[in-house]
Amino acid sequence: MGANRVAFGTLAMVSLGCTICRGCQLDTCHVGIATQIETVEQAQEHGLKKFTPQHVDGAAESCARFFKSMGQEVERVVASLGYERAQDLVGRYDLLEQISHVKELDLAELITPLEEFLDLEPIDMPVTAEEELVAAEARAEAGLVRARPIRMRIAGLAGKVFAEGPVREDVPGGIDAHDRVLGTELAGAISRARIYEAAPAGDPADVLAELTFNGGSVAGQGLGAFNAWGLVIRVEGGAQDGVAKTMLGGTVSVLKGSNSEGRRVNGSVGKSFAYGAQRGRLFVQGSADSRFCIRLSGADVVLGGEPEEPLDDSRGCIVDRANAKGFAFEYMTSGRAVVMGDIGPWACAGMTGGRVYVRVNPEWNLNADAIQRRLGEGAKVELADLDDEGQLDIDDLLGHYADELRATGQDDEAKRILGLAAAAPENFLMIVPHKVQADPNISTE
Ligand code: SF4
Repeated sequence: MGANRVAFGTLAMVSLGCTICRGCQLDTCHVGIATQIETVEQAQEHGLKKFTPQHVDGAAESCARFFKSMGQEVERVVASLGYERAQDLVGRYDLLEQISHVKELDLAELITPLEEFLDLEPIDMPVTAEEELVAAEARAEAGLVRARPIRMRIAGLAGKVFAEGPVREDVPGGIDAHDRVLGTELAGAISRARIYEAAPAGDPADVLAELTFNGGSVAGQGLGAFNAWGLVIRVEGGAQDGVAKTMLGGTVSVLKGSNSEGRRVNGSVGKSFAYGAQRGRLFVQGSADSRFCIRLSGADVVLGGEPEEPLDDSRGCIVDRANAKGFAFEYMTSGRAVVMGDIGPWACAGMTGGRVYVRVNPEWNLNADAIQRRLGEGAKVELADLDDEGQLDIDDLLGHYADELRATGQDDEAKRILGLAAAAPENFLMIVPHKVQADPNISTE
Protein backbone atom coordinates (compact mmCIF):
# COMPACT_ATOMS: atom_id res chain seq x y z
CA MET A 1 0.00 0.00 0.00
CA GLY A 2 2.82 2.43 0.52
CA ALA A 3 5.88 1.02 2.26
CA ASN A 4 9.07 2.37 0.72
CA ARG A 5 11.37 0.41 2.99
CA VAL A 6 11.35 -2.93 4.77
CA ALA A 7 13.78 -3.98 7.50
CA PHE A 8 15.06 -7.49 8.03
CA GLY A 9 16.42 -8.37 11.46
CA THR A 10 15.89 -11.99 12.41
CA LEU A 11 16.17 -13.32 8.83
CA ALA A 12 19.48 -11.55 8.33
CA MET A 13 20.72 -13.03 11.62
CA VAL A 14 19.68 -16.52 10.50
CA SER A 15 21.67 -16.04 7.31
CA LEU A 16 24.74 -15.54 9.54
CA GLY A 17 24.07 -18.82 11.35
CA CYS A 18 21.79 -17.73 14.23
CA THR A 19 19.48 -20.51 15.44
CA ILE A 20 17.03 -18.11 17.16
CA CYS A 21 17.71 -19.70 20.54
CA ARG A 22 16.90 -16.31 22.12
CA GLY A 23 19.85 -16.32 24.47
CA CYS A 24 21.68 -13.26 23.08
CA GLN A 25 21.90 -11.55 26.48
CA LEU A 26 23.83 -14.41 28.12
CA ASP A 27 27.20 -14.15 26.33
CA THR A 28 26.86 -17.86 25.52
CA CYS A 29 25.83 -17.70 21.85
CA HIS A 30 26.76 -21.17 20.55
CA VAL A 31 27.40 -19.96 17.00
CA GLY A 32 29.73 -17.12 17.99
CA ILE A 33 27.49 -14.19 17.01
CA ALA A 34 26.18 -12.56 20.20
CA THR A 35 29.21 -13.26 22.37
CA GLN A 36 32.76 -12.22 23.07
CA ILE A 37 33.79 -15.90 22.92
CA GLU A 38 35.74 -16.61 19.74
CA THR A 39 37.27 -20.07 20.07
CA VAL A 40 36.22 -23.56 21.12
CA GLU A 41 38.80 -23.39 23.97
CA GLN A 42 37.29 -20.17 25.34
CA ALA A 43 33.82 -21.71 25.01
CA GLN A 44 34.91 -24.72 27.06
CA GLU A 45 36.33 -22.41 29.74
CA HIS A 46 32.93 -20.71 29.89
CA GLY A 47 31.25 -24.09 30.33
CA LEU A 48 29.55 -24.21 26.91
CA LYS A 49 28.88 -27.77 25.74
CA LYS A 50 28.73 -26.89 22.04
CA PHE A 51 30.30 -24.01 20.12
CA THR A 52 30.80 -23.28 16.44
CA PRO A 53 33.09 -20.28 15.84
CA GLN A 54 31.93 -17.63 13.40
CA HIS A 55 33.69 -17.53 10.03
CA VAL A 56 33.18 -13.90 9.15
CA ASP A 57 33.90 -14.17 5.42
CA GLY A 58 31.55 -17.13 4.99
CA ALA A 59 28.85 -15.46 7.08
CA ALA A 60 29.13 -12.23 5.07
CA GLU A 61 28.86 -14.16 1.79
CA SER A 62 25.84 -16.03 3.08
CA CYS A 63 24.17 -12.78 4.17
CA ALA A 64 24.89 -11.16 0.79
CA ARG A 65 23.51 -14.24 -1.01
CA PHE A 66 20.36 -14.10 1.11
CA PHE A 67 19.63 -10.47 0.24
CA LYS A 68 20.49 -10.98 -3.43
CA SER A 69 18.10 -13.93 -3.68
CA MET A 70 15.43 -11.98 -1.83
CA GLY A 71 15.87 -9.11 -4.35
CA GLN A 72 15.60 -11.52 -7.29
CA GLU A 73 12.44 -13.01 -5.83
CA VAL A 74 10.91 -9.52 -5.50
CA GLU A 75 11.90 -8.81 -9.12
CA ARG A 76 10.14 -12.00 -10.24
CA VAL A 77 6.96 -11.15 -8.32
CA VAL A 78 6.92 -7.56 -9.61
CA ALA A 79 7.52 -8.75 -13.19
CA SER A 80 4.69 -11.30 -12.90
CA LEU A 81 2.41 -8.37 -12.06
CA GLY A 82 3.48 -6.59 -15.22
CA TYR A 83 5.70 -3.91 -13.66
CA GLU A 84 9.39 -3.12 -13.88
CA ARG A 85 10.06 -1.83 -10.38
CA ALA A 86 8.50 -2.48 -6.95
CA GLN A 87 8.57 1.30 -6.46
CA ASP A 88 6.00 1.62 -9.26
CA LEU A 89 3.54 -0.28 -7.06
CA VAL A 90 3.87 1.99 -4.04
CA GLY A 91 0.56 3.65 -3.27
CA ARG A 92 -1.28 1.81 -6.08
CA TYR A 93 -4.30 0.88 -4.00
CA ASP A 94 -6.25 0.95 -7.28
CA LEU A 95 -4.64 -2.44 -8.01
CA LEU A 96 -5.96 -4.05 -4.81
CA GLU A 97 -8.97 -6.30 -4.80
CA GLN A 98 -10.79 -7.71 -1.79
CA ILE A 99 -11.17 -11.45 -2.36
CA SER A 100 -12.85 -12.68 0.83
CA HIS A 101 -14.79 -11.81 4.00
CA VAL A 102 -16.63 -8.95 2.30
CA LYS A 103 -19.68 -9.59 4.46
CA GLU A 104 -17.67 -9.30 7.67
CA LEU A 105 -15.57 -6.33 6.61
CA ASP A 106 -16.03 -4.36 3.44
CA LEU A 107 -12.76 -2.64 2.53
CA ALA A 108 -14.17 -0.82 -0.49
CA GLU A 109 -13.70 2.59 1.09
CA LEU A 110 -10.03 1.87 1.66
CA ILE A 111 -9.14 0.41 -1.71
CA THR A 112 -11.36 2.31 -4.12
CA PRO A 113 -9.27 4.96 -5.86
CA LEU A 114 -10.16 8.35 -4.42
CA GLU A 115 -11.13 9.91 -7.74
CA GLU A 116 -13.48 7.00 -8.45
CA PHE A 117 -14.85 7.11 -4.93
CA LEU A 118 -15.51 10.84 -5.25
CA ASP A 119 -16.51 10.47 -8.90
CA LEU A 120 -13.67 12.75 -10.05
CA GLU A 121 -11.55 12.70 -13.20
CA PRO A 122 -8.75 10.05 -12.85
CA ILE A 123 -5.33 11.41 -11.90
CA ASP A 124 -2.14 10.27 -13.60
CA MET A 125 0.01 8.08 -11.35
CA PRO A 126 3.77 8.38 -12.00
CA VAL A 127 4.82 5.11 -13.53
CA THR A 128 8.19 5.68 -15.11
CA ALA A 129 11.38 6.85 -13.39
CA GLU A 130 11.33 10.07 -15.46
CA GLU A 131 7.74 10.83 -14.51
CA GLU A 132 8.52 10.11 -10.89
CA LEU A 133 11.50 12.47 -11.00
CA VAL A 134 9.30 15.22 -12.43
CA ALA A 135 6.77 14.55 -9.66
CA ALA A 136 9.54 14.63 -7.01
CA GLU A 137 10.81 17.96 -8.33
CA ALA A 138 7.28 19.35 -8.29
CA ARG A 139 6.88 18.20 -4.66
CA ALA A 140 10.18 19.85 -3.70
CA GLU A 141 9.21 23.08 -5.53
CA ALA A 142 5.88 23.11 -3.74
CA GLY A 143 7.78 22.87 -0.43
CA LEU A 144 6.25 19.46 0.37
CA VAL A 145 9.66 17.76 0.76
CA ARG A 146 13.14 19.12 1.49
CA ALA A 147 16.27 18.21 -0.38
CA ARG A 148 19.02 17.10 2.06
CA PRO A 149 22.16 18.68 0.59
CA ILE A 150 24.24 18.27 3.79
CA ARG A 151 23.93 14.49 3.87
CA MET A 152 24.80 14.28 0.20
CA ARG A 153 27.73 16.66 0.65
CA ILE A 154 29.16 14.53 3.47
CA ALA A 155 28.67 11.28 1.57
CA GLY A 156 30.51 12.95 -1.33
CA LEU A 157 33.68 13.42 0.79
CA ALA A 158 34.50 9.73 0.39
CA GLY A 159 36.64 10.27 -2.71
CA LYS A 160 38.76 12.91 -0.98
CA VAL A 161 39.43 11.00 2.22
CA PHE A 162 42.17 8.68 0.97
CA ALA A 163 43.24 10.79 -2.02
CA GLU A 164 43.83 14.09 -0.22
CA GLY A 165 44.36 13.06 3.40
CA PRO A 166 42.33 14.27 6.36
CA VAL A 167 39.28 16.34 5.42
CA ARG A 168 37.38 18.72 7.67
CA GLU A 169 33.77 19.67 7.15
CA ASP A 170 32.23 22.32 9.38
CA VAL A 171 28.49 22.70 9.15
CA PRO A 172 27.44 25.77 11.12
CA GLY A 173 23.86 25.02 12.18
CA GLY A 174 21.34 24.01 9.60
CA ILE A 175 20.93 20.34 10.45
CA ASP A 176 17.80 19.08 12.07
CA ALA A 177 15.70 15.98 12.64
CA HIS A 178 15.37 15.46 8.87
CA ASP A 179 19.13 14.89 8.57
CA ARG A 180 19.37 11.21 9.36
CA VAL A 181 22.30 8.76 9.51
CA LEU A 182 24.75 11.62 9.00
CA GLY A 183 28.24 10.27 8.44
CA THR A 184 27.13 6.67 7.91
CA GLU A 185 27.52 6.70 4.13
CA LEU A 186 31.02 8.13 4.53
CA ALA A 187 31.89 5.45 7.12
CA GLY A 188 30.61 2.83 4.67
CA ALA A 189 32.77 4.26 1.88
CA ILE A 190 35.85 4.22 4.16
CA SER A 191 35.17 0.60 5.14
CA ARG A 192 34.56 -0.51 1.55
CA ALA A 193 37.80 1.18 0.44
CA ARG A 194 39.64 -0.76 3.16
CA ILE A 195 38.03 -4.08 2.27
CA TYR A 196 37.96 -3.92 -1.53
CA GLU A 197 40.51 -1.31 -2.57
CA ALA A 198 43.37 -2.08 -0.18
CA ALA A 199 43.13 1.36 1.44
CA PRO A 200 45.26 1.54 4.63
CA ALA A 201 43.53 -0.16 7.57
CA GLY A 202 44.73 2.69 9.73
CA ASP A 203 45.34 3.12 13.39
CA PRO A 204 42.44 3.90 15.75
CA ALA A 205 44.13 7.24 16.45
CA ASP A 206 44.26 8.31 12.77
CA VAL A 207 41.77 10.96 11.68
CA LEU A 208 40.65 10.72 8.05
CA ALA A 209 37.64 12.99 8.27
CA GLU A 210 36.31 15.32 10.94
CA LEU A 211 32.69 16.42 10.72
CA THR A 212 31.54 19.25 12.99
CA PHE A 213 27.91 20.31 13.30
CA ASN A 214 27.43 23.33 15.53
CA GLY A 215 25.10 26.25 16.03
CA GLY A 216 22.64 24.27 18.14
CA SER A 217 22.13 21.50 15.58
CA VAL A 218 20.05 18.51 16.57
CA ALA A 219 20.98 15.60 14.32
CA GLY A 220 18.23 13.22 13.20
CA GLN A 221 18.02 9.48 13.79
CA GLY A 222 21.11 7.32 13.45
CA LEU A 223 23.87 9.96 13.62
CA GLY A 224 27.20 8.15 13.19
CA ALA A 225 25.57 4.71 12.92
CA PHE A 226 28.18 2.07 11.98
CA ASN A 227 30.93 4.67 12.38
CA ALA A 228 34.40 3.49 11.30
CA TRP A 229 37.99 4.14 12.35
CA GLY A 230 39.20 7.51 11.14
CA LEU A 231 35.85 9.30 11.24
CA VAL A 232 35.32 11.90 13.98
CA ILE A 233 31.82 13.38 14.34
CA ARG A 234 31.17 16.26 16.72
CA VAL A 235 27.78 17.90 17.27
CA GLU A 236 27.20 21.00 19.42
CA GLY A 237 23.51 20.76 20.17
CA GLY A 238 21.92 17.33 20.45
CA ALA A 239 20.90 14.21 18.58
CA GLN A 240 17.88 11.95 18.26
CA ASP A 241 17.65 8.16 18.64
CA GLY A 242 20.13 5.51 17.54
CA VAL A 243 23.35 7.56 17.69
CA ALA A 244 26.41 5.45 16.82
CA LYS A 245 24.63 2.13 16.84
CA THR A 246 26.94 -0.77 16.05
CA MET A 247 29.86 1.66 15.89
CA LEU A 248 33.11 0.00 14.83
CA GLY A 249 35.59 2.80 15.54
CA GLY A 250 36.21 6.53 15.42
CA THR A 251 34.68 9.14 17.72
CA VAL A 252 31.16 10.51 18.09
CA SER A 253 30.58 13.42 20.47
CA VAL A 254 27.32 15.16 21.24
CA LEU A 255 28.14 18.25 23.27
CA LYS A 256 26.20 21.23 24.55
CA GLY A 257 25.61 24.03 22.07
CA SER A 258 25.55 27.77 22.78
CA ASN A 259 22.11 29.38 22.96
CA SER A 260 21.32 32.97 21.91
CA GLU A 261 22.69 34.23 25.26
CA GLY A 262 25.92 32.30 24.82
CA ARG A 263 25.02 29.77 27.51
CA ARG A 264 25.78 26.08 26.87
CA VAL A 265 22.58 23.97 26.79
CA ASN A 266 21.28 20.52 25.76
CA GLY A 267 24.01 18.10 24.59
CA SER A 268 21.52 15.24 25.00
CA VAL A 269 20.74 12.17 22.93
CA GLY A 270 17.68 10.02 22.24
CA LYS A 271 17.04 6.33 22.76
CA SER A 272 19.44 3.41 22.29
CA PHE A 273 22.63 5.44 22.14
CA ALA A 274 25.62 3.27 21.13
CA TYR A 275 23.47 0.15 20.72
CA GLY A 276 25.96 -2.72 20.32
CA ALA A 277 28.92 -0.34 19.76
CA GLN A 278 32.09 -2.42 19.50
CA ARG A 279 34.98 0.03 19.21
CA GLY A 280 35.74 3.74 19.31
CA ARG A 281 34.91 6.58 21.70
CA LEU A 282 31.56 8.17 22.45
CA PHE A 283 30.82 11.28 24.49
CA VAL A 284 27.51 12.84 25.55
CA GLN A 285 27.64 16.04 27.58
CA GLY A 286 23.94 16.11 28.46
CA SER A 287 21.50 13.34 29.35
CA ALA A 288 20.31 10.26 27.44
CA ASP A 289 16.94 8.70 26.78
CA SER A 290 16.25 5.04 27.57
CA ARG A 291 18.44 2.05 26.71
CA PHE A 292 21.67 4.05 26.81
CA CYS A 293 24.50 1.74 25.73
CA ILE A 294 22.27 -1.28 25.44
CA ARG A 295 24.43 -4.29 24.59
CA LEU A 296 27.58 -2.18 24.62
CA SER A 297 30.21 -4.51 23.17
CA GLY A 298 33.60 -2.91 23.59
CA ALA A 299 33.44 0.86 22.94
CA ASP A 300 34.44 3.59 25.43
CA VAL A 301 31.69 5.94 26.59
CA VAL A 302 31.24 8.99 28.83
CA LEU A 303 27.79 10.28 29.80
CA GLY A 304 28.41 13.79 31.16
CA GLY A 305 24.89 14.85 32.30
CA GLU A 306 24.54 15.68 36.00
CA PRO A 307 21.45 16.00 38.25
CA GLU A 308 19.77 19.42 38.22
CA GLU A 309 18.86 19.09 41.92
CA PRO A 310 19.72 16.72 44.78
CA LEU A 311 18.14 13.28 44.35
CA ASP A 312 14.93 12.62 46.28
CA ASP A 313 13.84 9.06 45.47
CA SER A 314 10.89 9.33 47.91
CA ARG A 315 9.12 11.34 45.18
CA GLY A 316 8.95 8.17 43.04
CA CYS A 317 9.41 8.10 39.24
CA ILE A 318 13.21 8.16 39.53
CA VAL A 319 13.41 7.91 35.76
CA ASP A 320 11.94 11.40 35.22
CA ARG A 321 14.93 13.08 36.85
CA ALA A 322 17.68 10.60 35.94
CA ASN A 323 20.42 11.40 33.45
CA ALA A 324 19.91 8.03 31.72
CA LYS A 325 16.20 7.29 31.32
CA GLY A 326 16.06 3.61 32.15
CA PHE A 327 17.71 0.30 31.18
CA ALA A 328 21.18 1.79 30.73
CA PHE A 329 23.87 -0.81 29.94
CA GLU A 330 21.31 -3.61 29.57
CA TYR A 331 22.99 -6.77 28.16
CA MET A 332 26.40 -5.04 28.11
CA THR A 333 29.10 -7.56 27.26
CA SER A 334 32.28 -5.48 27.02
CA GLY A 335 33.64 -1.93 27.02
CA ARG A 336 34.15 0.88 29.51
CA ALA A 337 31.83 3.69 30.51
CA VAL A 338 31.76 6.61 32.94
CA VAL A 339 28.42 8.04 34.13
CA MET A 340 28.89 11.51 35.64
CA GLY A 341 25.32 11.76 37.01
CA ASP A 342 22.30 9.58 37.83
CA ILE A 343 22.50 6.24 35.95
CA GLY A 344 18.70 5.86 36.17
CA PRO A 345 16.53 2.87 37.05
CA TRP A 346 16.78 -0.77 35.86
CA ALA A 347 20.46 -0.31 35.02
CA CYS A 348 22.86 -3.08 34.02
CA ALA A 349 20.23 -5.85 33.74
CA GLY A 350 21.73 -8.82 31.88
CA MET A 351 25.22 -7.25 31.95
CA THR A 352 27.85 -9.97 31.50
CA GLY A 353 31.07 -8.04 30.81
CA GLY A 354 32.83 -4.67 30.78
CA ARG A 355 32.91 -1.97 33.44
CA VAL A 356 30.68 0.99 34.31
CA TYR A 357 32.09 3.73 36.56
CA VAL A 358 29.45 5.77 38.36
CA ARG A 359 29.76 9.12 40.10
CA VAL A 360 29.10 9.46 43.85
CA ASN A 361 28.44 12.89 45.34
CA PRO A 362 26.93 13.39 48.83
CA GLU A 363 25.74 16.88 47.86
CA TRP A 364 23.42 15.26 45.30
CA ASN A 365 22.43 12.35 47.64
CA LEU A 366 24.09 10.19 44.99
CA ASN A 367 25.65 7.46 47.13
CA ALA A 368 26.14 3.68 46.99
CA ASP A 369 22.60 3.05 48.31
CA ALA A 370 21.03 5.23 45.62
CA ILE A 371 23.06 3.50 42.90
CA GLN A 372 22.21 0.05 44.29
CA ARG A 373 18.50 0.98 44.13
CA ARG A 374 18.94 1.80 40.45
CA LEU A 375 20.34 -1.59 39.41
CA GLY A 376 17.95 -3.90 37.56
CA GLU A 377 16.39 -6.64 39.67
CA GLY A 378 17.98 -9.44 37.65
CA ALA A 379 21.35 -7.68 37.34
CA LYS A 380 24.19 -9.99 38.39
CA VAL A 381 26.61 -7.20 39.11
CA GLU A 382 28.56 -5.86 42.01
CA LEU A 383 28.94 -2.24 43.12
CA ALA A 384 32.45 -1.77 44.48
CA ASP A 385 35.20 0.73 45.28
CA LEU A 386 37.55 1.52 42.42
CA ASP A 387 40.48 -0.81 41.89
CA ASP A 388 43.77 0.15 40.15
CA GLU A 389 42.38 -0.69 36.72
CA GLY A 390 39.36 1.47 37.46
CA GLN A 391 41.51 4.50 38.29
CA LEU A 392 43.44 4.08 35.04
CA ASP A 393 40.22 3.70 33.06
CA ILE A 394 38.71 6.87 34.53
CA ASP A 395 41.88 8.78 33.87
CA ASP A 396 41.88 7.63 30.25
CA LEU A 397 38.16 8.12 29.52
CA LEU A 398 37.81 11.49 31.23
CA GLY A 399 41.10 12.63 29.68
CA HIS A 400 39.63 12.06 26.20
CA TYR A 401 36.32 13.63 27.27
CA ALA A 402 38.23 16.73 28.42
CA ASP A 403 39.92 16.87 24.98
CA GLU A 404 36.48 16.97 23.34
CA LEU A 405 35.35 19.74 25.70
CA ARG A 406 38.46 21.78 24.90
CA ALA A 407 37.89 21.22 21.18
CA THR A 408 34.61 23.14 21.58
CA GLY A 409 36.10 25.92 23.72
CA GLN A 410 34.93 24.57 27.09
CA ASP A 411 38.27 24.81 28.87
CA ASP A 412 36.84 25.48 32.36
CA GLU A 413 34.54 22.48 32.15
CA ALA A 414 37.45 20.33 30.94
CA LYS A 415 39.47 21.45 33.97
CA ARG A 416 36.62 20.59 36.34
CA ILE A 417 36.27 17.11 34.81
CA LEU A 418 40.01 16.46 35.09
CA GLY A 419 39.84 17.56 38.74
CA LEU A 420 37.21 14.86 39.40
CA ALA A 421 39.37 12.28 37.61
CA ALA A 422 42.39 13.24 39.71
CA ALA A 423 40.46 12.28 42.85
CA ALA A 424 38.73 9.30 41.23
CA PRO A 425 38.48 7.01 44.32
CA GLU A 426 36.46 9.70 46.17
CA ASN A 427 34.23 10.50 43.22
CA PHE A 428 33.45 7.18 41.57
CA LEU A 429 32.40 3.60 42.28
CA MET A 430 32.47 0.79 39.74
CA ILE A 431 29.85 -1.69 38.57
CA VAL A 432 31.27 -5.01 37.38
CA PRO A 433 29.48 -8.27 36.56
CA HIS A 434 29.81 -11.24 38.92
CA LYS A 435 32.16 -13.86 37.58
CA VAL A 436 29.33 -16.27 36.79
CA GLN A 437 27.16 -16.81 33.77
CA ALA A 438 23.77 -15.16 34.13
CA ASP A 439 20.93 -17.50 35.00
CA PRO A 440 19.45 -18.42 31.59
CA ASN A 441 15.97 -18.45 33.11
CA ILE A 442 16.02 -14.77 34.00
CA SER A 443 14.44 -12.56 31.42
CA THR A 444 15.30 -8.92 31.88
CA GLU A 445 12.52 -7.58 29.70
S1 SF4 B 1 22.45 -16.37 21.12
FE1 SF4 B 1 23.30 -16.58 19.05
S2 SF4 B 1 22.12 -18.27 18.11
FE2 SF4 B 1 20.99 -17.60 19.93
S3 SF4 B 1 19.51 -16.08 19.18
FE3 SF4 B 1 21.33 -14.91 19.82
S4 SF4 B 1 22.61 -14.73 17.98
FE4 SF4 B 1 21.09 -16.34 17.56
